[in-house]
Formats: sequence, C-alpha cells, structure tokens
Amino acid sequence: MEVKDIKETSLSLNPVISQMGIYDHEQILFCNDNATGLKAIIAIHNTVLGPSLGGTRFWNYNNEMEALTDVLRLSRGMTYKSSAAGINLGGGKAVIMGDPKKLKNEALLRRFGKFVNSLGGKYITAEDVAMSSRDMEMIKMETDYVSGLPVTMGGSGDPSPVTAYGVHVSMKASAKEAFGSDNLSGKKVLVQGAGNVGLHLIEHITKEGAKVYVYDITEERVKLAVDKYKAEYVSADKMFDLDIDIYAPCALGATVNDDTLSRLKCSVICGAANNQLADEKKHGELVKSKGILYAPDFVVNAGGVINVYYELEGYNRERALSHAEKIYDTTWNIIQTAKTQNIPTYAAANYIAEQRIASIAKINAVM
Ligand code: NAD
Repeated sequence: MEVKDIKETSLSLNPVISQMGIYDHEQILFCNDNATGLKAIIAIHNTVLGPSLGGTRFWNYNNEMEALTDVLRLSRGMTYKSSAAGINLGGGKAVIMGDPKKLKNEALLRRFGKFVNSLGGKYITAEDVAMSSRDMEMIKMETDYVSGLPVTMGGSGDPSPVTAYGVHVSMKASAKEAFGSDNLSGKKVLVQGAGNVGLHLIEHITKEGAKVYVYDITEERVKLAVDKYKAEYVSADKMFDLDIDIYAPCALGATVNDDTLSRLKCSVICGAANNQLADEKKHGELVKSKGILYAPDFVVNAGGVINVYYELEGYNRERALSHAEKIYDTTWNIIQTAKTQNIPTYAAANYIAEQRIASIAKINAVM
C-alpha cells in the first residue's frame, strides 16, 4: 500500500482528527483511569493568545461522540469569548463523562487533576456544570492549573457579580444604539432567571430606574426579586408576549428560537445565558431582519472569564470590574461593525474575535 493510501484510509476511519480539523482544534487529551472510573476529554482549541482556559463539565453523556462534540464546541466558544474580551487566554474545555452523583469523589477528581497537570499549563481548568469550588480544591491538590478557587484559598470566588456588571454595561451600550440613550430609566426589562447573575443584574438595573419583569422556575428566586427589587412576576406562558424594551435571558440557552421570535416584542436582547441563539446562523439573521438588536452572548457574559483571568495574576476585584466595564465599548464596537458591514451582530462578534487572534498570531510568528 502506498503512503498516500494509508493517510487517506486512516483519516476516513478517524472521526476524531477529522472533527478537530473542522474548527482547527490544536489538541485533545483523552483520559482514562480504570481504578477511579475516570473517563474525560480535555480539548484545547487555540492557544495563540495564551494558555487555554475553560471549565470542566461533569455530565452523563449518552455516548462518547456526544461528549466529544460538546467539548469541541465549548472549547472553541472559549477562544472567541476570551479574544473578544481582550484577555490573554486561549480556549479550552474539559468534560468528565458519567453521573456525577455516582462517580464524583476525591480520587477521581485528583486523578483528573493529574491529567490537567500533564499538559504543563497549556490548559487551565475552572468550574462548570456539576463542579463546585470544593471540587476545584481537590483538583488543585494535583495541579496549579486551576482557577475559580474560593476566596478562602486566595481565589476569586463567585464570578457572578462581575458577570452581572458586564451584562449591565453591555445592556447600556445596546440601549444607546436602540433608543438613542444608554440610560435604562423607565425601560421595561424581562429577566428570565433570577439566579446568581440574574439577581445581581436586577439590582443594577432597578437602581437605574428600569422596570423589571421576572420569571424563574424556582419560586424563592422570584420572591427575592419581587421583595427586594420590586420586580413584577410574570408567568412562563405569558413572558414572551409582554410588551417590553429589553429581553435578558439569564437562565438557559436556546431561548431565542422560532417560537419566542414569533412572539417577542422587544428592541434589544441582552443577557447572561450561554448559547442564546437556538441556531446561531438562522436566528442570528432572523433577529436582524426583525429589527431586534441582539448583543452577542459571549461578549455580554465575559465578566466570568475576566474574573478568573485576574485570579491568575493575583486576584483584585477592582481590576476585574474595571476590565468588565470595557464590555460596554466592545458591545458598541460590535454593533457598529455589524451596521457598517450589514451583517448580524453575532457574525460581527465572531469577526472581531478572529481578527484579534489573527493579528496576534502574526506577532507571535515574528518572535
Ligand atoms: P444560576 O444557576 O445561579 O441561575 C440560573 C437560574 O435560572 C436559577 O435561579 C434557576 O432556577 C433558573 N432557571 C432554570 N431553568 C429555568 C427556566 N426554564 N426558566 C426560568 N428560570 C430557570 O446560574 P447563573 O450563575 O446565574 O448563570 C445564569 C446563566 O448565565 C447560565 O446560563 C450561565 O451559564 C451563564 N453564565 C454565568 C456566568 C457566571 O458568572 N455565573 C458567567 C457566564 C455565563
């Protein structure tokens, strides 16, 4: 058999490397340990701007391909988020496969920490779904490449106040474009999800005089928003039919979809949730054609990654907040780029993130 044939055969039989090629992922580490039951994948998408950083998600995937697809998608998302936020981090992510309730224990987490350590700092982990700051402490026993540690361990603690601050300033920049002023006083805002970020956001915008409508599946979170900030409760079946100015998704992804877009009466969508557009291309274009200004989620919610970035440098909340404040300008620049190029805002955000990586790659090539 000729060499060419071997290459072609191995590529067609190897869906992993083919998948890595689609979005130009740099490296994947597959981790297995029979003793602890650990099965994990660490994906490094891009390290042009700096070491890759992204949380570890513990999830009971249906199969390994589903886990691989998730980690490839999420790690790429981190590259774009950090690039647009102007921080010197690349994109990475890890997934641990299995039921966290059954599998998660000290030995498994420390074994995972050893795998993270083996990458020598090319990947820095943090919290994500089903991982707590206590779990980060376990991982930290085996590696220094961990961020998002509790304040008691010298870490940055809960990132949600910084994330909420970033959402607030992004909402102001969006309002400036949509309404001619960045003052949110009198604006009617629907906040879906009064969790850690949502409640801080409600505090910021009600202080500025916005009228907040709130929905959360957890009754006590609604009660907090209503009692503390005079928000008005709205039921799940009515919320997308309200007459509002701004929709702030702060709970789940994919809430900007065919159904909600046929009902939503708002001028701006700006919130903390990840992956708000059910189908990025389709719904990103649909919001534009409907005249709704969509502030791209990964730009809006970058306060979380900004917060852990400053932990790597010796944490200082003032510096993290001051950097998060720049999300105002980033949002504004993206909106203006989208307008000038007549493209959807999500595409403008991707373009700006890609431009920064391309320009720094050129500098790296010189050194
Ligand atoms: P959280 O878990 O504290 O809050 C989520 C809230 O949403 C909870 O109160 C929950 O009851 C509610 N919720 C769940 N399902 C719902 C539904 N179907 N309808 C309405 N409410 C529902 O999470 P968080 O830290 O506030 O994060 C909110 C969102 O922002 C998430 O999508 C998260 O991925 C994203 N995000 C958070 C940060 C951060 O710093 N915490 C950073 C970046 C992105």
